[in-house]
Amino acid sequence: MRRIVWFRRDLRIDDNPLLSLEGDLLPIFIFDTHILSSLKADDRRVTFIFNALFQLKSSLQQLGLDLAVFYGEPTEIFRYLLAHAHFDEVSASGDYDAYALQRDRQISHLLTFNYINDTYIFRSDEILKPDGTPYLVFSPYYNRVKSLFRPEHMREFFPKTHALIPFDYSPLHCVQRSHYTPKPLSLESIGFIPQILTSSQQRSPYTKLDQFADKLDHYSKNRDFLALDATSELSIDLRFGTVSIRHVLRWLTTQKNRGVDTEPFFRQLIFREFYAMLLAHFPHLSNRNFRYNFAGRENEAYFKAFCTAQTGVPIVDAGIRELLESGEMHNRVRMIVASFFTKNLLLPWQWGEAFFAEHLNDYDASSNSLSWQWSAGTGIDPQPYFRIFNPYTQSAKFDPDGVYIHRWLPELAGIPAKTLHCEERLSALALTGYPAPIVNHKMSSEKALHYFKSHKNVL
Ligand SMILES: Cc1cc2nc3c(=O)[nH]c(=O)nc-3n(C[C@H](O)[C@H](O)[C@H](O)COP(=O)(O)OP(=O)(O)OC[C@H]3O[C@@H](n4cnc5c(N)ncnc54)[C@H](O)[C@@H]3O)c2cc1C
Repeated sequence: MRRIVWFRRDLRIDDNPLLSLEGDLLPIFIFDTHILSSLKADDRRVTFIFNALFQLKSSLQQLGLDLAVFYGEPTEIFRYLLAHAHFDEVSASGDYDAYALQRDRQISHLLTFNYINDTYIFRSDEILKPDGTPYLVFSPYYNRVKSLFRPEHMREFFPKTHALIPFDYSPLHCVQRSHYTPKPLSLESIGFIPQILTSSQQRSPYTKLDQFADKLDHYSKNRDFLALDATSELSIDLRFGTVSIRHVLRWLTTQKNRGVDTEPFFRQLIFREFYAMLLAHFPHLSNRNFRYNFAGRENEAYFKAFCTAQTGVPIVDAGIRELLESGEMHNRVRMIVASFFTKNLLLPWQWGEAFFAEHLNDYDASSNSLSWQWSAGTGIDPQPYFRIFNPYTQSAKFDPDGVYIHRWLPELAGIPAKTLHCEERLSALALTGYPAPIVNHKMSSEKALHYFKSHKNVL
């Protein structure tokens, strides 16, 4: 059996089911021009991927294997490979967003496609209602997960001994418009500029788990507080598969056996599963509402103020500044800014989703679009449309001393926390160098409620 093993969202050798398959292997990674063409040259995620690839290549070499890296459009690359050698199949772990599903379908017309379940705990058809349809509400989905979860879902995969298929593994293989050009294997060869990565992008997932062990017991109590370092920071590793989800589960079991309450963290991991399952069943959810015809109102001036951290609402601007400067944003802040965007500003959620997609280091199509739909109240299992976060009470509750706001908005250094959390006081200040709030919370919420009530027609 001659197999192409295609690494995508599983950039590691540890606990990787691809390497437990039999046969002679050609391990590959593709820099997909369809995805790269929409990214800016200074995109931090591409540097992260590049570093992870070098690590993967060297780990594979230690197993007597290697990694061939391609640049181009995946279908064309598969045609190129098949024109030069015989392969029996390609094996890859599942990727459920709409583009990935369509790309894999095209490749399956060229070569037998062996789809492996690795990125998520469950296959997308594994946790369904008794009538075989997908769950649309999280709580019953979660209960079903708990009743179907078995030790096999945490099983560890070990690499087999393989013969490496002869190939030139050193250059970057560029295949474009039927032309083949070998180039040096560097970021510059694919048009990107190396970036300095954030601490979260630099630390190994295993170090993160070690550091998180002491915080896990207080996760539920602390995770919403913006100045506390209380979460795992694993989202980027789960996104690119630099750690296996099963390894995280086994680690969690060890913690549970030590008497730690692991359920709150497990529940968050299952949100990730729920959103991936939904996108696999309803690919149109990446850009279309599930239920209501809330389209929002297109307002370029509001959108610009939001994207440049100039809304005059400190917690919102602090979150956007964090995103722009680091590619990261605390989950609670993501919820606050998405609510402000879709309700106080009444902007189309798709605009906010695309803005996050451009900047988030952990951007994931399913978690991002479904979370935006949840915030906008348009989707499956949404928060009710009439629930509108008050950004000032949210910041008073979750950033009481204004530590997070001051960190990201140094221009507000002299403003006491009490003022930052009070719309009236803030609006009365007339600051230089920081704008007055672009909307009043009460008035904009009433306008949004009126809009939602009159657009509540079920699609
Ligand atoms: C508007 C909005 C957009 C979002 N976009 C993304 C995205 O593009 N990519 C992404 O990975 N997460 C997204 N999230 C979910 C969440 O904010 C991040 O997963 C979390 O902040 C990552 O930090 P952490 O790894 O320290 O999380 P922890 O609190 O340590 O949680 C552990 C893991 O559980 C998963 N998880 C936690 N919360 C959620 C959640 N609400 N939904 C889905 N999975 C979750 C993540 O994989 C996370 O790494 C979004 C949330 C909102 C409200």
